[in-house]
Amino acid sequence: MTEQFDVVVAGAGPAGAQCARDVAERGYDVLVLETEAEDEFPRQSNKSTGGTFPSMMASFNVPDDVVMQFTDSVVLESPNEHFVRDMAGAVLEFADFKQWLVDAGREAGAQYRFDARVSGPVLEGGEIVGVEYNGGEQVYGDIVVDATGPSAPLAQELGVANLERRNQAIGVEYEFEGVDLDHPDYADLTDAMMLRLDHELAPGGYSWIFHTGADTAKVGLCYIQNDEFRRHATADRTIDGYLDYWLERDPRFENAERIAGKQHRGSAHIQPPDSMSTANFMAIGDTVPTIDPLWGEGIHKCMESGRAAAITADRCLTPATPDTSAEEMAIYDELWHDRVAPKMRTRLLMTRLLYFAPNDRYDRLMRDLQRADDDTLARVNNGDKMAMRKMFHLSDLPMLAQFARQHVGS
Ligand SMILES: Cc1cc2nc3c(=O)[nH]c(=O)nc-3n(C[C@H](O)[C@H](O)[C@H](O)COP(=O)(O)OP(=O)(O)OC[C@H]3O[C@@H](n4cnc5c(N)ncnc54)[C@H](O)[C@@H]3O)c2cc1C
Repeated sequence: MTEQFDVVVAGAGPAGAQCARDVAERGYDVLVLETEAEDEFPRQSNKSTGGTFPSMMASFNVPDDVVMQFTDSVVLESPNEHFVRDMAGAVLEFADFKQWLVDAGREAGAQYRFDARVSGPVLEGGEIVGVEYNGGEQVYGDIVVDATGPSAPLAQELGVANLERRNQAIGVEYEFEGVDLDHPDYADLTDAMMLRLDHELAPGGYSWIFHTGADTAKVGLCYIQNDEFRRHATADRTIDGYLDYWLERDPRFENAERIAGKQHRGSAHIQPPDSMSTANFMAIGDTVPTIDPLWGEGIHKCMESGRAAAITADRCLTPATPDTSAEEMAIYDELWHDRVAPKMRTRLLMTRLLYFAPNDRYDRLMRDLQRADDDTLARVNNGDKMAMRKMFHLSDLPMLAQFARQHVGS
């Protein structure tokens, strides 16, 4: 007997689980296939620092009990300067958050099948009509959604996504106790999320300390192994080697100890999306990829993409004769560009420029940020070109020219 659902979702991350929750709330039959075992879920996929903001918590009705620590500032650090911005935030216990999303989806009527590793599409007439999982099992769906993050087995085979290794950012993080969060030589990181631009610690990327209560914090770093990385990298130092290097040198970690079992690592691609849909199919979350390239805010963006996919599924399946043709599914691409990640190309360019800049320019950036008003900062963060222009100096011209030669149009 073939099993048939309105919607089949591969992957129970923020994108897939939110998509299933929304689709189920609209009354459709939805099945989520998740590769990990239920009793240890999430294990390998427990990869995220979980830093987020009230807009995400409110949009998706996320309960406070999955929050480790509410924060009230974001701190940017460079090698010798820092900039503090008052901004409410929350550091999630990512595992609890993922489990809560599964429970909320089930309450809405979504079915979950764990220990179910999706390997590829079931095709009829060249179109996807279902998925294969666990080597030979099949399940059919009017609409199939790939939400497996960077593994993307369906999207890659359908030619919808083209995640390239050269654009893959890798990250590692440990949770620590005994961190000096208010060291006299640095900004006060109590109730703060701190991101540090410093090529010595994270070549071509950034590192972070997110306060998680008392003297505990999540400490990690990420980078892409691209030209910027190679320009600043130390031969043979691994990503764990970079973290150790930072831990050994920064006095805030003098008495810090790793908390057993609290290690997170993962990856996401930083690249412009290709198409995201085809007949009967959508790719969401980091399968696209959807993560904000500049600061790695992926949870909110990926959940928004899940919501856009659910809206599209509803629209395609509602008519008496459902229409899941490529043209109708492309509504999702429009929603993604309009609502989920507007100005993605500008943000990618800003990201490349930011990580292209040398360490001494980061110090100057912090001083400029300290002087800028809130409106300019918000506009810069939203990719407003006029506001961005204000952040440049005449002395930046050689750097901008070099950047243009290497990156513009690439
Ligand atoms: C180290 C690190 C720190 C981060 N910190 C933050 C942060 O502070 N704030 C923030 O907003 N974002 C952060 N992010 C980004 C954020 O975690 C991701 O953007 C987000 O988790 C992506 O959601 P997703 O649902 O698209 O994919 P994923 O979270 O990757 O979920 C994919 C799901 O699919 C499952 N799966 C994979 N392959 C298969 C398969 N073949 N079959 C079935 N199931 C499968 C996986 O087990 C997983 O459950 C961080 C990422 C990393 C790596």
